[in-house]
Amino acid sequence: ALAATLTACGSSTKTVDAEASAQASGGNAGALIGVTMPTKSSERWIHDGDNVKKQLEQLGYKVDLQYAENDIPTQANQIENQITKGAKLLIVASIDGTAITSQLQQAADNKIPVIAYDRLIRNSPNVDYYATFDNFKVGVQQATSLLKGLGVEDGKKGPFNVELFGGSPDDNNATFFWNGAMSVLQPKIDDGTLVIKSGQTDFKTAAILRWDPATAQKRMEDILTKTYTGDTKVDGVLSPYDGLSIGILSALKSSGYGTSGQPYPVVTGQDAELASVKSIIAGEQYSTIFKDTRKLAEQTVKMADAVLKGTKPEVNNTKDYDNGNKVVPSYLLDPVIVDKSNYQDVILGSGYYTEDQLK
Ligand code: BGC
Repeated sequence: ALAATLTACGSSTKTVDAEASAQASGGNAGALIGVTMPTKSSERWIHDGDNVKKQLEQLGYKVDLQYAENDIPTQANQIENQITKGAKLLIVASIDGTAITSQLQQAADNKIPVIAYDRLIRNSPNVDYYATFDNFKVGVQQATSLLKGLGVEDGKKGPFNVELFGGSPDDNNATFFWNGAMSVLQPKIDDGTLVIKSGQTDFKTAAILRWDPATAQKRMEDILTKTYTGDTKVDGVLSPYDGLSIGILSALKSSGYGTSGQPYPVVTGQDAELASVKSIIAGEQYSTIFKDTRKLAEQTVKMADAVLKGTKPEVNNTKDYDNGNKVVPSYLLDPVIVDKSNYQDVILGSGYYTEDQLK
């Protein structure tokens, strides 16, 4: 009614209309949203950040997007700054899922809702929602693809020499990937199809802090020198992320793999990063797991918009993601295995990359 009365008097029309629509959307129309991403050193997070920002802006929100180059205090500061700047909602892809509890408390004290993006934030009651891919399934798919590459799916009995890599131990996803993969691989280890020659079979030994490619390369080099002497060859490597796969492949190359006489072992990955999709096409890396960051952004933006409008966002999982304090209502998207046989359909077909980019 106020808007109607004032519509007549020219200049104030706009302000009043904006206020009216802000009220209709819970007072948050055009609000500032803080988005924090772990690092630009991996391409996927650049896509994530760009997609989330673009889609939020399309809905009229303002966005403060920050990257922390995998430095925990930097990310904590960025979140504090966003709270100070008046952000009405935070979207956080954490570096260390346990390290931002006090920032989230500050958010809660200011009634700022928090959405965990891709990685669960742990040990805090102040995480409202979680948008991610089915992380256990990612691990299952990595292992399934490893077995396919080795020919186990076609009945080959092995024994195959395999080495295992895990993700960053402070990233909640890493244990989900590992547990998913081991649910497929353990029975094959038990029946002798797979042999973990290095003997390094536990997550702690296999984990690569901060997903660092150079650390993975070093670990692979060490394993090759210690374990693969003489005629013993490695047949497969479980790698949970494309960046690690690149490090692993480069260690293998230095050790004489990647020739016609000694082809690369089956190496898995994750994220369908450009360099790795090219490597798959070139017959080096065997596979990756495609997680469409456009879709994750879309789901997260829908969640954020619903929360800011005071409605309930759509979730499809309310049991699997216990953050140590509570089960966080989640929306899980479906990951897809990509190898040389289907990259054209899945990657080009969905427009994730163009043919030119893959040249
Ligand atoms: C993400 C993966 C990514 C990894 C390294 C994980 O939390 O879910 O997609 O490969 O971090 O950046």
